This record gives sequence, structure tokens and C-alpha cells, in this order.
Amino acid sequence: MIHGSHVIVLPFPVQGHLTPMFQFCKRLASKGLTSTLVLVSDKPSPPYKTENDSISVFPIPSGSQEGKDPLQDLDDYIDRVYTSIKNHLPELIQDMKLLENPPRALVYDSTLPWLLDVAHDHGLRGAAFFTQPWLVSVIYYHAHKGSFSVPSSKHGHSTLASFPAFPMLSANDLPSYLCESSSYPKILRIVTEQLSNIDRVDILVCNTFDNLEEKLLKWVKRMWSVLNIGPTVPSMYLDKRLSEDKNYGFSLFTAKSAECMEWLNSKQPNSVVYVSFGSLVILKDDQMMELAEGLKQSGCFFLWVVRETEMNKIPISYVEEIGEKGLFVSWSPQLEVLAHESVGCFLTHCGWNSTLEGLSLGVPMIGMPHWTDQPTNAKFMEDVWKVGVRVKAEADGFVRRDEIVRCVGEVMGEEKGKEMRRNAEKWKVLALEAVSEGGSSDKSIDEFVSMFY
Ligand code: UDP
Repeated sequence: MIHGSHVIVLPFPVQGHLTPMFQFCKRLASKGLTSTLVLVSDKPSPPYKTENDSISVFPIPSGSQEGKDPLQDLDDYIDRVYTSIKNHLPELIQDMKLLENPPRALVYDSTLPWLLDVAHDHGLRGAAFFTQPWLVSVIYYHAHKGSFSVPSSKHGHSTLASFPAFPMLSANDLPSYLCESSSYPKILRIVTEQLSNIDRVDILVCNTFDNLEEKLLKWVKRMWSVLNIGPTVPSMYLDKRLSEDKNYGFSLFTAKSAECMEWLNSKQPNSVVYVSFGSLVILKDDQMMELAEGLKQSGCFFLWVVRETEMNKIPISYVEEIGEKGLFVSWSPQLEVLAHESVGCFLTHCGWNSTLEGLSLGVPMIGMPHWTDQPTNAKFMEDVWKVGVRVKAEADGFVRRDEIVRCVGEVMGEEKGKEMRRNAEKWKVLALEAVSEGGSSDKSIDEFVSMFY
């Protein structure tokens, strides 16, 4: 069915950005707005349609070798993605303008702020889509303006950073690039420049929900008009009574669904620790083994996602010794796993999607952040939303096995664990409320759609 209006959606091609932006297209489709999702891909394929023809997927070549892991050279990958978009997008927009239902807006990943001018040059409205929460965006905004001093912890004294409507933050709580004399200058520039032109952006969309960032949003909404449309978790996971197709969208990895579900079905409720570090984090060999030992010593069952490129860090002898106590998979159907009653705790790197998914599905968490915005998400997860604990790392960032055992004990245990589970249940209810008909995120989607009719 062809609907009345049409937008182009362009995510940065990594899993944590593709998933929420595709789910956004699905929400738009459910309200009658068609979209073309431009997919920068190293696997050339012809355009195709999905969601009853409401979403067209238009792959453009990334110029990377097929199957090459972007992490091998992230800077090079970023350059290729930029070049691909610059080479292909203008022509694509021109062609689409000839359609019976031409696009009216470009919804671009906020990490590509220069696309605002591309949109305007072609007579389209520019909508920036933030795949991180406001609490992180606001820190990047202040960092870009140079309006706060990065805290330091020299000679045993730590200073704290203070932002309007925030708890005080130590160096440890800030997005990693801001404090390390950054080993990734390109990424530091990209993340802070996301908000460089925010005052000119036509529409601001964010994968969060109003209740979750209530206090900070009072400050944000005085500055900008924002549409919070999250969590972009399909409703059927938030409310088991609803049915919807399980299509996640663009998984760059193949999930071992049957294996995970069969294993989880054989376990008691709340008995399993689900461990995942998302699609990009690489743990050092000794950290991987320390975590493995900690999980073993915790005595709990665990389901651990270890990507294919990481599995060589776990010796076969360890896997054999663990036996039925642990299952290793290269990729899981994460939402199905988190929604399973056997899962009692989520040990996560606190990528924003994972954090939001854990919260929305009511699963208490252990935050073991690694880089980017993960430390900040972990700080809020523990201290503001109170749905878990964050591991205490050594000064060099290393997390010892005893600390893993302590955290698993706390979250899976009776005393504090019960309270975290209660809090997590509360967020689950609020997340469902936000996306249900008439909820804050549902209204934001309506508002977005109404701009194009
Ligand atoms: N994910 C998944 N299966 C896995 C691991 C992760 O489906 O085994 C999904 C997860 O549900 C989330 C995304 O991959 O939607 C990862 O995004 P996140 O922001 O958490 O982390 P990133 O990969 O960007 O570091």
C-alpha cells in the first residue's frame, strides 16, 4: 500500500544505530508514513521493500571489503562511510524527488550533522536522530561549547563536573573520550560535533522516553523542542499479550535463537546471568579470562555472547569445564533473551540500546562499561534509575574476578537484588506506557507524522 507521505532515514551503519532507526521506520509505517532507509553496506544488494511496502531499503556501497570487521580500522571505516554517503546520497535524493510520493525530510543519524545542509540544499527538512540519551547528548553539547572543565583525579584528589539538572559526575562517569587524552581523536570530534548545529535542526528525535530523563528534560526542553520516541523495543516484548512480527530489522550478525531459547527453557526462573558486550567492544585477553573465572566462581548459570572474533580468547578447556553451567553463543536474539523468565540479571557494557532494553524489559543489570557513553549510562543505571550495580574497576580499568562475584551475588541475591528488580519492574511499566497509544513516545511519533501531512 502506498501511503501519503515519505521520509528518508539514514543511520550510521553499526548495529547500535541501525536497530533503533529501523524500529523508528516501523513505528512510522504503523502510522501510515512511508520511509526509505538508506543502508551503507559492504554487501551490495538491490533495493527491496518491507513492512507491507511501507519501508524501502536502499543499500549503497560502503567501499569496504565484504565481511571486513570495521573495528580493524575504525577511522578508515568512518572515512569510507562518509565518502559513500557524499557520493551516493545527493543523486538518490534527486531520483526520489521524481517519485509520485517524493521524500519530505531526511532523518539522519546525529553523528552525521553535516547532512542537515544536504537536506536543506535539496529542499528537505532535516531531522537529527539521536541513538544516545539526552544525558549523554547534553554532556557532548557542553563539551563542544567548552563550558565545563573535565574533572581530574591527580595526586589522590578528584574533582567533579557539574551540569544543570545532573548529579555530580567524576571523570569515571563521563563519556570515555572526554577524559582520556583521547586515543580516538576522530571519534571525539564526531561525538562532540553532533550538537554543533543543533539550533538549526528542524526536528530532534531521540531514542529515550520522557519519564526516564524527566529532570534533565525540563532543562533540555527549555533549549530545544524534542521528540522522544523510545524505547524502540518492539511492543510485543514489552507486553506479551501483543503480537507483532519479530523482525529486528538489520542484524549484521546471525542470532543463535533456537540454541539460546532451548537452553533458557531448561533453567529455573531468575537463575541465569545474561552476558553481552554488544557489537563493538573488544575485551583484552586477560580481562576476558578474569570475567570467565568470576562467572564460574559466582556459581550461577550464564549465557554469554562472545562474538566469533573474540572466541579465541576463551580456552576450550574452560568451556568443557563449565559444561551445562554456561552457554556461549556468537550472537543472541537479545530481546527474546531478556524477556525470558530464566534471565535474572544482565551483565552489560551499557551501550545505550542494551541499557534501554534491560530497563524496558525489567531486568536488573551489572554495568561493566568500556568506552564511549557507556560509563555515563552505567552511572545513571546504578545511581538514578537504581536498577543495578556498576563494577568497581582497578585504576587501570581492569575488573577482578572477586568484583564480578560480588556484583552477581548482589543483583541475583535476595536483599538488594529484590529492590533492583522492583525498580526494574517500575521502569518496565513506564516504558510500555510511553509507547502505548496516547503515551508520551506515541504522541511524539504522531507529532512527527503530522508534520508531513
Ligand atoms: N544485540 C543482539 N544480540 C547480541 C548482542 C546485541 O541482538 O547478542 C543487539 C542489542 O539488542 C542491541 C544492539 O545489538 O540492540 C547493541 O547495541 P548497543 O547500543 O547496546 O551496543 P553497541 O553494539 O552499539 O556497542
